[in-house]
Amino acid sequence: MKRNEVDRNKLSPMMVQYLDIKLNYEDAILFFRIGDFYEMFFEDAELASRELELTLTGKSCGLESRVPMCGVPHHAYLPYLEKLVEKGYKVAICEQLTDPNQKGMVERGVIQVVTKGTLMESSSLDEKSNNYIGSIYDFSHCYAISYADISTGEVNTELINYDTEKLINEIIRLDIKELIVNDLVDRKIINTLRENYSILITISSSLLDDDTYSYIYDGITDVRVVNSIKHLLYYLTDTKKGNLTHLQKVNIIDKNKYLELDVHSKRNLELVETLRLKERTYSLLWLLDKTKTAMGSRLLKRWIENPLVDKKQIERRYDFISKLLTEFILKEELRELLNNVYDLERLSGRISYGNLNARDLIQLKNSLSTLPHIKRILEELEYDRTLEVLDDLYELLDKSINEDAPVTIKEGNIIKKGYSKELDELKSLSSGGKDFILKLEQEERERTGIKNLKVGFNKVFGYYIEISNGQKDLIKDEYNYTRKQTLSNCERYVTPKLKEKEDLILNSDEKSIQLEYELFIQIRDIVRGYIPKIQNISNIISEVDVLLSLAVVSESNNYVRPTIVNDRCIYIKDARHPVVEKVANFTYVPNDIMMDNKTNILLITGPNMSGKSTFMRTLALTIIMAQMGSFVPCKECKIPIFDKIFTRIGASDDLVSGESTFMVEMKEANNAVSNATENSLILFDELGRGTATYDGMSLARSILEYVHNKVKCKTLFSTHYHELTILEQELRNLKNVHVSALEENGTITFLHKVKMGPVDRSYGIHVASLVGLPKEIIDRATEILDIYENPKNKKEVYKQTSLNLDMAEEKHDVIKEKLKEVDILKITPLEALNILDELKKEINEN
Ligand code: ADP
Repeated sequence: MKRNEVDRNKLSPMMVQYLDIKLNYEDAILFFRIGDFYEMFFEDAELASRELELTLTGKSCGLESRVPMCGVPHHAYLPYLEKLVEKGYKVAICEQLTDPNQKGMVERGVIQVVTKGTLMESSSLDEKSNNYIGSIYDFSHCYAISYADISTGEVNTELINYDTEKLINEIIRLDIKELIVNDLVDRKIINTLRENYSILITISSSLLDDDTYSYIYDGITDVRVVNSIKHLLYYLTDTKKGNLTHLQKVNIIDKNKYLELDVHSKRNLELVETLRLKERTYSLLWLLDKTKTAMGSRLLKRWIENPLVDKKQIERRYDFISKLLTEFILKEELRELLNNVYDLERLSGRISYGNLNARDLIQLKNSLSTLPHIKRILEELEYDRTLEVLDDLYELLDKSINEDAPVTIKEGNIIKKGYSKELDELKSLSSGGKDFILKLEQEERERTGIKNLKVGFNKVFGYYIEISNGQKDLIKDEYNYTRKQTLSNCERYVTPKLKEKEDLILNSDEKSIQLEYELFIQIRDIVRGYIPKIQNISNIISEVDVLLSLAVVSESNNYVRPTIVNDRCIYIKDARHPVVEKVANFTYVPNDIMMDNKTNILLITGPNMSGKSTFMRTLALTIIMAQMGSFVPCKECKIPIFDKIFTRIGASDDLVSGESTFMVEMKEANNAVSNATENSLILFDELGRGTATYDGMSLARSILEYVHNKVKCKTLFSTHYHELTILEQELRNLKNVHVSALEENGTITFLHKVKMGPVDRSYGIHVASLVGLPKEIIDRATEILDIYENPKNKKEVYKQTSLNLDMAEEKHDVIKEKLKEVDILKITPLEALNILDELKKEINEN
């Protein structure tokens, strides 16, 4: 049954209410609270029952047939909600806003819409990554993207040239989970992002027009930036509905401040996840992450993805790492202290949004308690930022919140004794009452002589005196017992005295729980005022955590401090690939990477599997690590600052579906040569192999010439076209290097050592035999190789084969050979005719 097809007039009032609310949340699954359940109806119910494997039932609502329905219990709805959100659905939570026990229909309203990008706490929220929600605003001449992590409060905006590819690249690079786009954005972009990258997209052009959050863009004059932020904010406030004042002032991303890495570099260099399995393990991030806090881990990821270009800022990071490496004891002490620092960034989000509990405040208190020690150590290490110590907040939390407070905030036991006089009085009344009860039990036993007399409590009758059937005859009128309840084995009574105390106890219990809740809210509001300070502290702690992590990794892996030079020379002695050297179960062979002022291109030849692409990646990773402020894996490193890195390595991932690998390869090459400057680095691995040999070789060569003559940036170019190695004679700034291999008795040993000069032959067939291709194929390939290398043997070999080789070309060569042998001056006309006849026969043969 479809929602749009039902006759409203026949529906029950509650279903009409449902339809009205649902009208505003067409694109979400509506969790409609009825009593203890969130119910779903119509298409929502069908979808949710499928996705969540719930039983689909029906509800009679005045129509002939029942409306499809399914539900989840409200006290355990979270896993269901998370599952739907994980799958990319939006869920609107509709609550009962008035007391359901009162007369009349309960009012209902949506209190928030939960989506992938707006999660604040959830088991599916990775604590080590940011969870970005973003907006794209198309201004017809440029794009603005704003993106925020509402679990941490970070907000960023950047302007992007009017270039679709760039826009998509950036969204993917930032790993934005959900987007709001204005209605000018091209549908093709939307489809690509939705279908190829599973990004949840909402089309809306509304801008927030109230001033609550104007501090986020305070002082910004570029209206595009302001509009873009308001565009994002409209959606955020509309879905979250609660307080979001933990959102921080916007960070305007100036691309010129960072080393630009295209999305291919991020993926191919396996910076934050591996190419094939898409896992963090074995990525650069995995290797470098020895952080102690989740905030540190998130920041490290941002540093890896955004290396710096400012020498001063980079060296500031080196300086602190150097300091940490010399101050071993302080370093260890600091690391130990960071163990006690909680995720303050995400905590600020919860404080502001209001969904935090007393345990969070205890975590905050514990974190604050370590700050004075951290501050002292940072001063000793001459760290250049000042950590604020929030003693007053610490004291407040210390005197107010119980260490063993429960997760719920409405059941009391949150506030410490001594914090509120009023609360303590209520509690003593209640506990005094309880003491009274105990005493009363004793007194009544003595008065009546009934040893097993008990004073008990239940919710319906309150306090009672319980006497077993065998003893009830002992009760006398003068005791003033009134019978309340008869059970099979006993009777329950009350006395006026008991009732009087009961009121007092129950009232004070209820009142104290209510008061505790109010006090908690007051404290939370005070803490809210500290959010900017807490965020500042988190910034410093995360930076220190990352630098500590880099120091620890440098130390255990023998990295060195890079020297940044001003001329365009690369000098890296004994460079190592940081991840390969760590995970390999063989000895890693370090290689020098040297490119002086006169060398811009290294043309790398060598057998497959010899280590060409590892060599290229090593350079890129060394540069990225150096520019993010880390020490690097080698013996000595002198490098200039690079502005951009482009890579075309390994398998292509098609950015826009339906394109061939070769097409993608050429697009990436185009992107590199047209955007690179003299200060960039280009890595081209086997460029051109995706097309026919001559085609590919010609392209590779012309691209090399173009880079050499026009772009003039440092470039590593690996190739299996030996023919290209002669370029060294023609292009002044190109040098041949090769990765050596040792061939003995038909087997090949890779030495992984990069040496000057070109390689003398290809070892592809040996690699094929190493992986166990059938002997027949290997033998035949060896024969064919022989033909190519020694054209004279061709005819004989070809005749043995039924493989589809290029016969026309073979004949052409044979005829050419024969003609070469003819000396026209020495033959008679008849001989000439005979030769001609022979040649014709040759052509007609087969
Ligand atoms: P190519 O690009 O030449 O096909 P790769 O760079 O992919 O080769 O390297 C092939 C394998 O050789 C890698 O997986 C790695 O295990 C190993 N390797 C590469 N370089 C080195 C090195 N310098 N030392 C030791 N092993 C290496």
